[in-house]
Parts: sequence; structure tokens; C-alpha cells
Amino acid sequence: KVEEYLEKIEKNKDINAFIDIRKEKVLEEAKRLEKDEKAKKKPLYGKLIAVKANINVEGYTISCASKTLENYISPYDATVIEKIKENGGLIIGITNMDEFACGSSGETSYYGPTKNPKAKDRIPGGSSSGSAAAVAADLCDFALGSDTGGSIRNPASHCGVVGFKPSYGVVSRYGLCDLAMSFDQIGPITKNAKDALEIMNIIKGKDEKDTTTVNIKDFEVREYKPKVGIVKEFMDVTDKKIREKIERAIEVFKDMNCEIVELSYKYLDLALPTYYLINYVEFYSATRRYDGRRYGYKIEDVCGEEVLRRITIGSIISQKEYSGKYYKKALKARNLLKREYMKMMKNIDIILSPTVPKLPHKLGEKISPIEMYNYDILTVIANLVGAPAGVVPCGEINNIPVGLQIQGKPFEDEKVLNAMIMFE
Ligand code: GLN
Repeated sequence: KVEEYLEKIEKNKDINAFIDIRKEKVLEEAKRLEKDEKAKKKPLYGKLIAVKANINVEGYTISCASKTLENYISPYDATVIEKIKENGGLIIGITNMDEFACGSSGETSYYGPTKNPKAKDRIPGGSSSGSAAAVAADLCDFALGSDTGGSIRNPASHCGVVGFKPSYGVVSRYGLCDLAMSFDQIGPITKNAKDALEIMNIIKGKDEKDTTTVNIKDFEVREYKPKVGIVKEFMDVTDKKIREKIERAIEVFKDMNCEIVELSYKYLDLALPTYYLINYVEFYSATRRYDGRRYGYKIEDVCGEEVLRRITIGSIISQKEYSGKYYKKALKARNLLKREYMKMMKNIDIILSPTVPKLPHKLGEKISPIEMYNYDILTVIANLVGAPAGVVPCGEINNIPVGLQIQGKPFEDEKVLNAMIMFE
């Protein structure tokens, strides 16, 4: 199976899903696993896993798809990778992404853009573009991505696969290269929702190396009747054709006799400015370690346009004299957004909504930074709040997949995952 998949990856090189494949290393590891009788009983035995290029895997180039780190070969495994290996899984390769996870299209990688396997003239979405594309093209069994403002859910939606962003603190970030550490979570990209639940059980849990993690009991597959919320503002900002697909998905829940409640979230306009202000400040601070002394290049000297924009603006708004004007205001707005979300969710189990308000643009089509940020309007809320959010395919428009987003309350990941399973 390993050889067959390595061949398939080679054949599908034009998708540009992988940016580091080490055949010998993989074959050697496969042989070792095959001889290990204990490994054969483990849940991930025989599974091939693709990993986003910002999650450390020992012996691979973990470049964050940036020239800055092109020579960085990781000396260690992130906690999630340790857990995957302990459970018998085999890492098949490292996937392409937007540079330092800054983007929603998969086009800003130093290694060139990823193609959407389901609609090859379109962007695959980002920033976990290679991970979603690898799952969509069946170049692995499942993949890991990271989600700061939608980077698992957006490409899952555009590529027609399942993606899940856990509640903040459920999965350890140890070994993940930060974009914005108060938002970042690692999560699975899979072929179906049940796989997502099972992988979550393996990668979740408290980790001494990440003090923001918590223990949460194992997720079980169980049917229930969720009380479903539909948020007027989320639907209003979305293209009509996508909205129609979501409305059909809502019908599926109606048919399961779920109660459907119309909700309102008045502060949606605040979501993107708040998210990006905090993102710039946290990203700026995270990039200070790429100063040219430790990893080879100084980030400002070699990075792309979007990364440079964030560092430049981040450095200005991080200055003390401006913090009251921007950063502190953003933190206040974040609290407001959280409070209102919790209020809205009070008697609700899940919210159904579109994932991305627009269809993906054509690969290479010029769009402005603001247009790029606008793709994120429906995904950043879960990160601002720390809430769980998953995506399941719910149809196609002119052969372009569309994903239904299901969000829940913080730490009610199990409810979201089960709603995803029930919808499928
Ligand atoms: N598009 C968003 C950003 O550029 C989200 C990125 C992400 O989730 N990593 O910040």
C-alpha cells in the first residue's frame, strides 16, 4: 500500500499537494511497522498520514512553505505526531500551505500554489491547501492541518472533504509553528466525519508541553437530536447559490425532527477587523525568532508579500503608544464577540452555516488582500471564541464543492462531531 500511494503522489505531482516526500524514510518505517506485532493491533496501523508543513515531524523539512525555513530539518516530533506514531500511524509526507499559514487560497507558498483536485482551475482554499488536496485526491488516508481563522475548514469546503477545528485547548500546539497562538489549533482533515472523531480521540488531551491544553473525555459516536440555530447575518453575507445548498442541508436536520431556531449575531461586522488586528500582533511577535541567526534567513528578507504586510503592520500596532488604539480595542471587541456568541448559543446545541461566503476564485486570478480576508468572515468567529467547528461536504455548484459548517459551544466538540456524522 505504501508503495502504491508513493507512486500515486508522484503521478499527481501537478496538484502540488506535497512539498517534502522522503521515500526511503517512509519505506524503512513501513518495514519496521510490519515487523512490529504490537503495532498491528493499534488503531492507526496501516494508515498513511499527510502533515501540514508547520507541524514538526522529525527528519522532515518543516518550512511553513517559506524560504525563511527552507533549510530547517526538524529534530523532533510535535505532540500530535508523537501520538500518531504511538498509535501505529505512518507519516507519508509533508504538505503544501500558504506561507506561514497566512492566506485563504493556497497560492502564497514559496513552493508554488496547490491545485484543487476537484476543480483544477480553482484555488483549493487555504492555508492547509496541500492537506485538503491530498485527502481529496486520495493521496493519503487522512491529513493534519492547522486552523487559526479557518485554515482547516476553508480548504476542506473547497476540496469537498471533511475538516474539524477543535475547541481551543483540546489539542496540543506543542511543535506547531505559531501563526497567532491564541487562535491556532491543529485538527484532522478526513474523508468522512467518523474518521475525524476517531482521530480526535487520538490527538486530543492534556499535554504538559502546552499549558493551554485540557483533558476532555473520549468522544463517542452517538445519535442525538441537536437543537439547531441558523444565524441570519451568516446567511445574509453569503452568495445565493451557496445559501441554497445550506438551506437544503438545514432540511436534512428538519427531517431528523430537529428543532430549528432563527438567531441573530449583530456583531459580525467586528469579526474580521478584530481577528486580523490580533493576528498581526501575535504573528509579528512569533516571527521575531526568524532573525537570520537561528534558521538561516531573516524573515523580512525572503518572505512573500502577505507575510511582509503582517509583519510591517504588526510591528506598528504593537508599539506601546498605539496599543490602546488598536490591540487593546481588539481584545475588548474579542470579549464582546465571545459574550454575544455564548448568549446566542445559550439554548442551542449547534449552528449550521456556510463555511465560505463565496465560491473559490480561479487559480492565479488577482484579488485584493481585503477580498482574501473576506473569505474568512464565517470561520474566524470559532477561533475568536475558542469554539469547535467542523465542515462536511453538502453539494456542488458547477462541480465546485461546497461545505456545510457546524459550530458548537467551547468543549462541546463531541456534539459537533456527531452532528457531522449524522448529516453525512
Ligand atoms: N486566512 C486566515 C489568515 O490568513 C486564516 C489562516 C489560518 O487559519 N491559518 O489569517
